[in-house]
Amino acid sequence: MFKSIYDEHNREFYDDKDLLLRINEELSRVDELMRKENLAGVIQYLPRLFAWLVTFANRVDINISEALWEKYPGVCPYCLKKRNCMCITQETKYTAQRPELKKIREGRKNVPQSLTEWQQLLANIYGKVNKVQMLIQVWLHVSEEIGEICRAFRRRFDNNLREELADATAWILSTATKLGVDLQQLVLQRYPGCCDVCGKEKCQCEIL
Ligand SMILES: [Zn+2]
Ligand SMILES: [Zn+2]
Repeated sequence: MFKSIYDEHNREFYDDKDLLLRINEELSRVDELMRKENLAGVIQYLPRLFAWLVTFANRVDINISEALWEKYPGVCPYCLKKRNCMCITQETKYTAQRPELKKIREGRKNVPQSLTEWQQLLANIYGKVNKVQMLIQVWLHVSEEIGEICRAFRRRFDNNLREELADATAWILSTATKLGVDLQQLVLQRYPGCCDVCGKEKCQCEIL
């Protein structure tokens, strides 16, 4: 949907780095709302951050859903639990090619088919631990991961842009869960098949 609304428009006005700058702009806006504890504002702007993240992923030809499945194939990629992972406190390293994880990933059992299903899958794994964390702690992971996206993009040879995009998306979804909202519903309210600013199916916004 975002490709259809924004791809043509953005190719004219934004290079890849501009898109990353835009993600950071939207991130800072949510940061400010978090600092002011304006949760209604956070809920309003979270879909925008997500939209720019997807727009960037589209530009660099990364399918967010596939990237999410690679990292979170129905289990925590560190402890392999399907539910109630508590391994966040341990310093375990992620190994994408770990044989057990690879097997689960390639089995493709119950791959989520919507953003809502992704939010549920991540809530099953991390809902318990996120419940005892403060909202700001959950949110700061998004900031951290967006920094890592920038780093991965700058150092292209690192080749972990997919993973960082998956992580940022996962934490945005966990933030939505922490806020008690369904991100997909918010996204579709804000972008019902058209641009949230100009209202067109193919965005024609002037760049301000
Ligand atoms: Zn775990
Ligand atoms: Zn527009």
